[in-house]
Amino acid sequence: MNNFDYLQPQSVSEAVDQAGTNDSNRFIAGGTNLLDLWKYDLLHPAALIDINQLPALNSITETAEGGLRLGALCTNAATAYHPLVEERYPLLSKAILAGASAQIRNMATNGGNLLQRTRCYYFYDPAVPCNKRNPGSGCPAIGGYNRMHAILGASDQCIAVFPSDMCVALAALNAVVLVTGQQGDRSIPFADFHRLPGDQPALDNTLLPGELITAIDLPPNRFATNYSYLKLRDRHSYAFALVSVATALDLDGDTIREARIALGGVAHKPWRNELAEQFLQGKAAIEANFAAAADILLQGAQGYQHNGFKIPLAKKAIIRNSLMALDPASQLPGAQPSA
Ligand code: SF4
Repeated sequence: MNNFDYLQPQSVSEAVDQAGTNDSNRFIAGGTNLLDLWKYDLLHPAALIDINQLPALNSITETAEGGLRLGALCTNAATAYHPLVEERYPLLSKAILAGASAQIRNMATNGGNLLQRTRCYYFYDPAVPCNKRNPGSGCPAIGGYNRMHAILGASDQCIAVFPSDMCVALAALNAVVLVTGQQGDRSIPFADFHRLPGDQPALDNTLLPGELITAIDLPPNRFATNYSYLKLRDRHSYAFALVSVATALDLDGDTIREARIALGGVAHKPWRNELAEQFLQGKAAIEANFAAAADILLQGAQGYQHNGFKIPLAKKAIIRNSLMALDPASQLPGAQPSA
């Protein structure tokens, strides 16, 4: 571990000043991924800026538009169990509680959840090349063991996936990320926050050096009744998704007024395709239409040597999760997904 400065800013503006534009400085909140990365020798911060004493970032409040503002410093657990989140955005609660373990959710923060890095095993192994860790060195996952890897949006430089569950729901809910930095404040639509790898796989997101996430805004919606989050993984708890699906439906009787479907575990960012959602608009909420939407959503999917199974798995997961969203009882605690 390298020597570093440990700083405790007393305000958001002081935190931003301390970060400057030095990309090797790091904010720390829960530290649940940052400390892993540090111990694996994957980062060497010159300064560690501890933002845990900034109450301005640690609240959940209603917005003037009728939505919610989630402080970046609120823990995943506090967010999932907040009464207003449970009431208005139960899809988000359900997705958060599908992730990690209770202990980690008690420490991990909302801002940190967005910034967690891929769990590609090669990325964490400094003995092998990795374009994300060491640009230009190669990608051993392509042609190697790639069971966990991407089927959508990958590049010939990186086929890693983004591991978050929470972010899959935030993508479906059209969340907006609020950030502040040396250039002032910005609002980033969730779809623009995370990146595809392209020819710069080292970059996970569109934050500028030194920018701090302050909050996540959830716009009002009509998805609190018909929603579902389905996570498929190799073991039932404390495992990352092979495929996950967040589905939110606004129904008029048996007709779909509006649909949102986001996939996790399949790409370098939560995956949506508005064409699939537009297809469902005005259609009957029946299996055949969900299957057709799944085909649109999975257009362009490409499997590698060990993960081709994800393509049919994702299709089945989309259909099953959409049918579960029609049945609010399937979302109650303890309810088992139908076969
Ligand atoms: Fe590195 Fe990405 Fe390849 Fe994994 S998939 S080894 S993170 S370049």
